[in-house]
Amino acid sequence: MTNVATEYETVIGLEVHAQLLTKSKMYCPCNADYADSPPNTHVCPVCLGMPGVLPVINRQAVEYTIMTALALNCQIAEVSRFDRKNYPYPDLMKGYQISQYDMPFSHDGWLEIDADGEMKRIGITRVHLEEDVARLVHVQNEAGETYSLVDVNRAGVPLMEIVGEPDLRSPEDSRQYLMKLRQILQYLGVSTASMEEGQFRCDANVSIRPLGSQEFLGKVEVKNMNSFRAVYRALAYEVERQRQVVEAGDCIEQETRGWVEEEGRTVSQRTKEYAHDYRYFPEPDLPPLTIAREWVEDIRARMPELPDAKKERFLRCYGLTEYEVNLLTETRAKAEFFEACLASLEGEGETRVRQRAKAVGNWMLGDFARLLNAANVEIGDALVKPEQIVEMLDMIDSGVISGKIAKTVFEEMFQTGKPPRQIVEEAGMTQISGSDELTEAVDKVLAANAKAVRDYQSGKEGALRYLVGQVMRETRGRANPDLANQILREKLVGGG
Ligand code: ADP
Ligand code: MG
Ligand code: ZN
Repeated sequence: MTNVATEYETVIGLEVHAQLLTKSKMYCPCNADYADSPPNTHVCPVCLGMPGVLPVINRQAVEYTIMTALALNCQIAEVSRFDRKNYPYPDLMKGYQISQYDMPFSHDGWLEIDADGEMKRIGITRVHLEEDVARLVHVQNEAGETYSLVDVNRAGVPLMEIVGEPDLRSPEDSRQYLMKLRQILQYLGVSTASMEEGQFRCDANVSIRPLGSQEFLGKVEVKNMNSFRAVYRALAYEVERQRQVVEAGDCIEQETRGWVEEEGRTVSQRTKEYAHDYRYFPEPDLPPLTIAREWVEDIRARMPELPDAKKERFLRCYGLTEYEVNLLTETRAKAEFFEACLASLEGEGETRVRQRAKAVGNWMLGDFARLLNAANVEIGDALVKPEQIVEMLDMIDSGVISGKIAKTVFEEMFQTGKPPRQIVEEAGMTQISGSDELTEAVDKVLAANAKAVRDYQSGKEGALRYLVGQVMRETRGRANPDLANQILREKLVGGG
């Protein structure tokens, strides 16, 4: 028998938890925005898990969950229910989490990702709602003793869980899926979806199987990744680890493993033997929720345009490249800024709209992006506003300033927030299009560059370009180059 190397296929399904941007917590009136608060300042008997208290459902959290489910093409349940998930852990104040088990708010949706240049639908199993747990802070004192502190601020913050089908086939697929999901949540405004700050967390389930097999084999759940890069690396590591285990003739043990960023590997945390029995049962303190179809439609009507639809429309209406469109729709704020710059063109012809769109896009992806980046400022916080970009582009179009001067003007707009017209007037940067003023500069340049003049007259065309450059320099960029060219030619032909 020949030994043919088996090829494997990777199977990945992601479970994502996203903190929702509600004002209050999931089941009590405590402020959910705790990030910059001292420990244990956003607490009450409900989120502390005192006996005898009653939870109340946060309506906004339910709306955000339904909105997300709609954005992920899910079916919205007619009736939904909360369940108790029981397990003892120091960060779980009540000894149970109010979550959802068999009657989640939604199920059976999909999310489209770009898998190697091909659009691929990844199934969404369900989107449901639960609550976050407290935070344990592990400390070591000067004597070297270690102990843990509990900060209850986070306990009870609304947590939305998005469970994906095992449809992903590579770490890169998984990264695309997560980025797309984050973008959608951010567009909807339901979560900051910041992975670094723990507001968007991912548990990755991964298994491998012989290529061609349709069977799902034992999976490993990997936790503790707090960046997209970490998810990618953890999955790549885990796929390779599993391949080696299988090739050595061993079985993959169903287990939970943790990603250790510094070591670049996953380590076993608990095996199937110790798998939890959560003893789910319906939450007796909360009624099942009937979700009226009118409410669902009302939520749908309030949804913003989503990234894919926006991209498609930008491509169709503005004649931009796919590359440009991807960058301009990266965040909702960017896309809205871009379109605000075109608002004044309503009713104008397509050519004009496209020409202006190209110009706005160039500035946004060029100088503007560079300055934002250098200053580490988000577009929404920039001093430059769309109206000012429009004013600047109008000034370029009508010849008041040259494209070159505009770069200087824009930089000052960015630093000061002053309108471009004011900057140009204060600095006397308007373009010189009057021949009198320009002729003066041309004469000066000709007098100082006898050699270039001789060169031109002996047939070297390149010398003219040099002289135009000198005129631009003399006028500190304010000369209209076409006019400078024309006056120079006249003078040179006339004998200098
Ligand atoms: P568990 O009960 O362990 O949480 P589930 O069947 O509910 O397992 O699935 C949880 C996650 O694991 C889902 O995101 C799903 O897509 C993924 N998953 C299920 N089976 C596999 C598999 N064989 N390989 C990779 N991922 C899987
Ligand atoms: Mg799981
Ligand atoms: Zn509370």
